[in-house]
Amino acid sequence: MRRAFIVVDMIYDFVADDGALTCGEPGQAIVDDIVQGIHETIQNGGYVYLCGDTHEPDDPEFQVWPVHAVKGTKGAEWVAPTQQTYEQYKDTGRIHIVNKTNMMRFSIRHSNNCWKRIKFVKWKSQEFAHRSSSI
Ligand SMILES: [Zn+2]
Repeated sequence: MRRAFIVVDMIYDFVADDGALTCGEPGQAIVDDIVQGIHETIQNGGYVYLCGDTHEPDDPEFQVWPVHAVKGTKGAEWVAPTQQTYEQYKDTGRIHIVNKTNMMRFSIRHSNNCWKRIKFVKWKSQEFAHRSSSI
């Protein structure tokens, strides 16, 4: 059985010491384990989904929360080891970035998007297997 490893919000603004909504040390303490999980998942034939908060500069969420994770800024970037690991595997088709715009959409609509993406990848894998077997 193929497995998916889903990484949520390991972005600068949620993890770095000076991130806008950082959880600080607890988040920093698990970065190496997450990177190891990414390696193990991909090396065992699974798929990795990096689901991270991403906002437009005028996002209504900023009426409730401090400005954070604005698209194109350092705050929305993956913390360094996670980003480097993504770069290492991005051409394999086994690691994907899925942006989310708020935590409620992640738990309802966005999780559906993640699953749809996983189904898409499975379909593409089956198509590839079918093509490979017919060559
Ligand atoms: Zn947010």
